[in-house]
Amino acid sequence: MRPAARDGQSRLPDLSLLDDSPPEAILITHAHIDHTGSLPLIASLYPHIPIYATESTCVLTEILLRDSVHIMEQEGLKPDGETPLYTVEQVDALLGRIQPVSFKQPFAPLVTAPDILAWYMPAGHILGAGMLYFATPEGTLLHTGDISVTDQRTIKGVDIAALPNADIMICEGTYGNRAHTSRREEERKFAEAVQETLARNGRVLCPAFAVGRAQEIVLILKSYRASGHISPVPIYLDGMVRSVCAAYQGQSHDLHPNLQRYLKNARRPLFVDPGLHIFAVRSHERAELITRKEPAIIISSSGMLSGGASPLYGATIATREQDALLLTGYQDEESPGAALLRARPGLPLQIGSQSVVLACKVEKYNLSGHADSEQISQVVMKVAPRHLVLVHGSPEALASLKQRFVDIRVDVPVVGSKLNFQAVRHRVLVPSMPDVEAQTGLFDASPRLAPIDIDEQPQIPSIESLWILAKKLGPLRPWTIVELGQAYYGDAYRPTLRPLIEHVFKSDTSAYFKRSRIGAQSIYQPCETALGRSIISDEEFADCIPEMSLVLPSRVIQDEIPQRVPGAGVVAIVQGQKNSSPYLALTLAPAQNGGIRMITDGWKAAVRPLSMIQLLPDVRRTEWLNVPDETNKMRLKQWRQQLDQAWIDLFACWRRCQQSSFSFTSLCQDLGLCQADDRLALGLELLNHGLLLFRRDGEIWHPLDEQRVYSNDGFAHHLHLLEAGAGSEILVNGRPGRLTGRSNWRLFEVYWNEMDEDESERMARVRASAIRLSL
Ligand SMILES: [Zn+2]
Ligand SMILES: [Zn+2]
Repeated sequence: MRPAARDGQSRLPDLSLLDDSPPEAILITHAHIDHTGSLPLIASLYPHIPIYATESTCVLTEILLRDSVHIMEQEGLKPDGETPLYTVEQVDALLGRIQPVSFKQPFAPLVTAPDILAWYMPAGHILGAGMLYFATPEGTLLHTGDISVTDQRTIKGVDIAALPNADIMICEGTYGNRAHTSRREEERKFAEAVQETLARNGRVLCPAFAVGRAQEIVLILKSYRASGHISPVPIYLDGMVRSVCAAYQGQSHDLHPNLQRYLKNARRPLFVDPGLHIFAVRSHERAELITRKEPAIIISSSGMLSGGASPLYGATIATREQDALLLTGYQDEESPGAALLRARPGLPLQIGSQSVVLACKVEKYNLSGHADSEQISQVVMKVAPRHLVLVHGSPEALASLKQRFVDIRVDVPVVGSKLNFQAVRHRVLVPSMPDVEAQTGLFDASPRLAPIDIDEQPQIPSIESLWILAKKLGPLRPWTIVELGQAYYGDAYRPTLRPLIEHVFKSDTSAYFKRSRIGAQSIYQPCETALGRSIISDEEFADCIPEMSLVLPSRVIQDEIPQRVPGAGVVAIVQGQKNSSPYLALTLAPAQNGGIRMITDGWKAAVRPLSMIQLLPDVRRTEWLNVPDETNKMRLKQWRQQLDQAWIDLFACWRRCQQSSFSFTSLCQDLGLCQADDRLALGLELLNHGLLLFRRDGEIWHPLDEQRVYSNDGFAHHLHLLEAGAGSEILVNGRPGRLTGRSNWRLFEVYWNEMDEDESERMARVRASAIRLSL
């Protein structure tokens, strides 16, 4: 569907084209409205055909279609408004008919053709997005839907190496004639623009697509705020963004493994988290927030300012010089967002219902969720189809993409044309499913991958068996319903079994699990003892798993064990003795007999015991191996000086990971430290001061308890200032200023309200003990 259709364009696709060959099933790739918007209508035209989608797509489709029908009804009430394309009843009917399926789980979409199997493979792009693979007696077909190859913060990109071959491939080409800039670089520029605005006391509005983009932005901001690059001002989420964030949280099993680890270790919500000053705006609070002038970041749908809450904020923010409006997605030419990008300061402009004079900074950043031309080529090359069909892109993008493939048949069909695929049947290659005999029953050789029978009656677990499983596989971690389901049913788990596990927890299960909530999601922590015991034998464990499942280690989130034996050219953080100052080291040769030759910023090159290596922040400088030792020592020294200036606040880390232990690697992931320098600075600081706030047990760091930390007056004062946050008015020996939000070990950055004559810097590093909050 085309929601923002212009005059002369239809909002709906031409459904009469289906008359000659009516569909026999509908398979949804993902929830975006250009892929689901007309489904309520199509479904009601074909009331008896099955409809499939991944579980996460079902959840998001519901939010999007309910919003869409609501907007249509509102529109319809206006005197010259368009009539709604469908009704709430039609949306309900569609939602009730979609059968949720899991990724990588073959199913037979047509009852009349059981030898045609289909399964979803993760497509990156947004939560729940799947590529569809079809295996038929005539050959195989891969339909990409919308794909992203780059890893996003919410979702991992397409794993090209794991893609199967296919005879026919239908591929998207949105960015068929463009190349992306580096994602990390783009995120960094975006974060810089945010901080520049906050530093001049301004507000930032990020109009964002509610599904996918808004969640990415929250995570980018969280990460840059945690590393001190963005001041900890409040972040407000408004519009449909709120419900989509809740849906993402509830489907955590489909999110990036880093986020699942964060949930497990930090036990904090992923998006809306009042404890971290990330709030969902309630409708009655909006008017006040629009007029409030304090520094803040607002993330609101729609992404093009064409509707929703973003134009309401946009109309005031656009008029203030110190504010900024940062766009992060595609802007339709006729949209207010595109008009903003074309606008010149001082000239009038239409945002929502208001005409305003533009004064704020407007910028656009490319945080695309689509593969670019080079990435699409890589995907196609791996799938190696005989026949390629390019769709979902402008004619120019698809024509340019077509030129990349000279050896295969490529079609760029126009809407309404029919394509006939010849039976190619030259192979059925499914890498993860070996020994598959092509002609007879594709998956007979591999019973675990037998197509699921949606009507089969599964065994319902008892609360005892769930407790035993959780106790054995992850006694210290909280479990989600889906994780418990996956542990119990193994590879036979499917979304239709989720209600069964939910049902088990409907009765009083407090003797077995402690229930709590992370944002919109319930989590269950197995009790230390239940049934009068706390130790589970292997037999008991085996007994409580139903026959249909096989417990595989992959279903439990594994903690990585840091590699302690580095090769040559690795940058490590070393320490001679506990409590002595740490050094930055470069290993010069592979380890031998428990020793390794290295040079540090403080010592000359020599073979030192391996045990001296404390942290490996995953940084390499192999190109330094061919230069004299003295040069390397100088480099390490300069680097170290630079790292010591970084804003790393261990108090903030301590506050953040209350009650949950971490390894250095997991802490880096939780904080989203993707730059080598950030990880090194954190590592050095952890060894410098970490033992004052954490207890160390080998690789694992445990936060000291609150009482102990707060009993130190200096620490309590530091935490107090942290809580007050960026922008707080303070006095340093009577001199007024504000906290910028950046802090370090017992130091805060201060912005002076007025400058002394002989000063060149407006900001200064001031000892926490000298700072008083002014009332
Ligand atoms: Zn999409
Ligand atoms: Zn799309």
